[in-house]
Amino acid sequence: MKHFPVFLSIKGQRIVVSGGGEAAVAKLRLLLKTEASLDVYAPDASQDIQTWATDNRLTWHPRALAQGDVDGAALFYAADEDQTEDARTSSLARDAGVLVNIVDNLHDSQFITPAIVDRDPVTVAIGTEGAAPVLARAIKADLEERLSPNLGMLARVGKTFRKAAEALPWGRARRDFWADYYFKSGPRVETKGEIAAEQALDELLFAHLAAEKQSGHVAFVGAGPGDPELLTLKARKALDTADVVIYDRLVAPEILELARREAQLIDAGKTPFGQQTPQNAINDLIVTHAQKGALVVRLKSGDPTVFGRLDEEIEACDAHAVTWHVVPGITAASAAVASIGQSLTKRGRNSGVRFLTGHDVAGFADHDWRDLVKPGEVAAIYMGKKAARFIQGRLIMHGADGTTAVTVIENASRPNQRVVASTLATLPADLADAALDGPALTFVGLTPRAASAALTKFQQQEQA
Ligand code: SAH
Repeated sequence: MKHFPVFLSIKGQRIVVSGGGEAAVAKLRLLLKTEASLDVYAPDASQDIQTWATDNRLTWHPRALAQGDVDGAALFYAADEDQTEDARTSSLARDAGVLVNIVDNLHDSQFITPAIVDRDPVTVAIGTEGAAPVLARAIKADLEERLSPNLGMLARVGKTFRKAAEALPWGRARRDFWADYYFKSGPRVETKGEIAAEQALDELLFAHLAAEKQSGHVAFVGAGPGDPELLTLKARKALDTADVVIYDRLVAPEILELARREAQLIDAGKTPFGQQTPQNAINDLIVTHAQKGALVVRLKSGDPTVFGRLDEEIEACDAHAVTWHVVPGITAASAAVASIGQSLTKRGRNSGVRFLTGHDVAGFADHDWRDLVKPGEVAAIYMGKKAARFIQGRLIMHGADGTTAVTVIENASRPNQRVVASTLATLPADLADAALDGPALTFVGLTPRAASAALTKFQQQEQA
């Protein structure tokens, strides 16, 4: 972001414009919507400016801008449409320590004016840093169409009601109330004016207070393998409304960014073989927050039902009569297999696929290896990095061929995704060479589809 959007307080401040032509008029049309006092300097001014001056909506000084004119102003617009004059006036303003915008000169401007959708006090500012004015206009047109012209009135009336709404407890109850007002009862009465809107708010508050005694709820949400675009719409909605988000170590920061800004974020990270937040403590956290009435999002990487200790947390909820639901996510195996262009199952090759864990509570996990070594079988091994040698030993012991394809995909779906194409015989050595340090999924029985062409052992796959 080269430009940081802020809303500047200009009530009672001075904004100075140099110029009397079209460029100045265009800016003034916007500026006249503000509560700033406007000074225009121009030897000649267009009819619009003269009329505004006569109506006392701005002050027109019929001369060129001079030193001292800009002192103490909040903003300055150089709008003479003349490079030399703009350079002169903007340097006066800059010397006076005033922020400068030169019309049609992004490079020398200290600030730019966004495209504005005005439903005062609701204002949407759209900027593209000069990259795509057409896009900014299209977004503006779209919003203009979507936002009711009465939205500003609803917001003004709503503002006067904020104190009254504090009768509802902070958090979900109060949010639900405002959502009902802005999206349901408000729009129903918006054309009838302010009194009707006030009345609607009164009735709504009464209804919501009656429905109070909200109990909390837990959503077990799959955050997917890391790419935020692989979140489901339901996961996004849950994050949008969460009061508390309790997340795992593997949940990507970009995804946490999507949580409601006021939500409390709690790291319940568990590092394999390292410091762990004990499961009991996590269960307690979830239940305690829900019992306080919070909407808790328990955010787990991938799909919550795959190696996610979901059942223990559900049982904790049930034991305390806390309601819950599960929002599925894309599991690491799905993202990983997509990245190598293979299928998890394939007609004539394997009619089933196994999801295994490399380690469990007791350490390296044992499985029915005999089934896995049959030709064509495919296994997706989670948490398998450290167990590579163990898995290799077990499979070979049960008759697997050393040339069996093994592919390890680290950071599937993330920008730093890596693919290690290996074989059972060389797996531990290849993994040691690759020095993976992110989450990795191991496929036994699958090779990257591009392998026959030019695959190097440690193929760096930068995502598009
Ligand atoms: N519930 C998760 C799995 C949790 S177990 C899911 O459905 O994906 C954690 C293991 O998942 C990691 O050790 C790793 O094997 C795998 N994993 C998670 N995210 C991954 C990713 N982006 N790329 C590769 N493997 C991943």
